[in-house]
Amino acid sequence: MTAAERVPVLMYHRVGEVHASVESRYCVTPGRFAAQMGALATRGYRAVGIDAFVGWLAGGPQLTAGDFVLTFDDGFRGVREHALPVLERLGWPVAIFLVTDLLGGVDAWNASGRHGGGTYPLLTPDEVVEMQARGCSFHSHTRTHASLPMLADGALADQLTGSRAAVEKLLGLRADLLAYPYGHVDDRVEAAARAAGYRAAFSVQPGFNRCDLNPFRIRRLDVFGTDSPGALLRKMRLGSNDGSLRNLLGYYWRQAVGTGR
Ligand SMILES: [Zn+2]
Repeated sequence: MTAAERVPVLMYHRVGEVHASVESRYCVTPGRFAAQMGALATRGYRAVGIDAFVGWLAGGPQLTAGDFVLTFDDGFRGVREHALPVLERLGWPVAIFLVTDLLGGVDAWNASGRHGGGTYPLLTPDEVVEMQARGCSFHSHTRTHASLPMLADGALADQLTGSRAAVEKLLGLRADLLAYPYGHVDDRVEAAARAAGYRAAFSVQPGFNRCDLNPFRIRRLDVFGTDSPGALLRKMRLGSNDGSLRNLLGYYWRQAVGTGR
């Protein structure tokens, strides 16, 4: 077994039916999700728990090459209905970041129509408890999905501590991992997350994670509903959100002419 040097973290949002073409970026259909997971398993990739990954970042036990982390932002109900059965068959853990004031509601932050799609139901508290018993882990995505750098200090602290407390109260476990809504983070937000007792936080900056990374700027690869299984494999290979064949060929070209990194 080769020790992992760089670990990808995949970021998904909704799994379900796509009702408008603008939704296809952030929504993966159930069939495509199953095909993506199947392709990863066939190539020898294996999802590991988020705690093992964060422990590795902090100098803990090593991970194995091919290990990756699977995350879902927002806590849509479709994850339970469509993704969880696929992941249970593979025995793969999943981490879900919840918007705690909106449990049992809808993704109200998308209701502005900015994405042109509708709103979709979010997991209820009972479903979260049931999914925890099935091996899912739950973490904070703030109280209301606010863009954190926009907030004054008091509201920022409230979003961070309030959502942590809500997850801990619901599940009776320490909840000290955060995903920044929209990936928005700056130095003040990072300091507030540390002050609120978080151990690590996930951004949307693409790339691989190496064990010397700032644990409050964990990188994630954004999986689009338009990604074929082959495109996802290329993203994993390149550590890039660009899973096009052209990008992979460019990578090999740069390697061949000696300018690759
Ligand atoms: Zn989100």
